[in-house]
Amino acid sequence: MSTPGSEVKRLRRKATRKATRELINGYKENIGCVDCPAGTKHPCYVLDFDHLIAEEKIDSISIMIKDEASIRRIFNEIKKCEVVCKNHHAIRTHKRRNGLPLTGDTSTATDKYARL
Ligand SMILES: [Zn+2]
Repeated sequence: MSTPGSEVKRLRRKATRKATRELINGYKENIGCVDCPAGTKHPCYVLDFDHLIAEEKIDSISIMIKDEASIRRIFNEIKKCEVVCKNHHAIRTHKRRNGLPLTGDTSTATDKYARL
């Protein structure tokens, strides 16, 4: 059974996580997908943080928010990422897993398979 004090702390922590999530979501929407044509807008839930160098990744941004990491730590992690839409994130992941260049070849996985 939780005490009134612990319930207040729980609600305060929940409010902090919500505020952090809203800040990060606003940041993502502001930046937008760096692979989509300029000016393309997506809602936050369609945008991901793509870690550019896997070895430098400490944790996913969403996990850091859930774990109540400080804003400073979260933005230090965000510095290692680019914002991309879920489609472009999947394309990047596919290219990395198959040793394909991320830039230069702009064809999507669908284009590649269509040519087979
Ligand atoms: Zn995109």
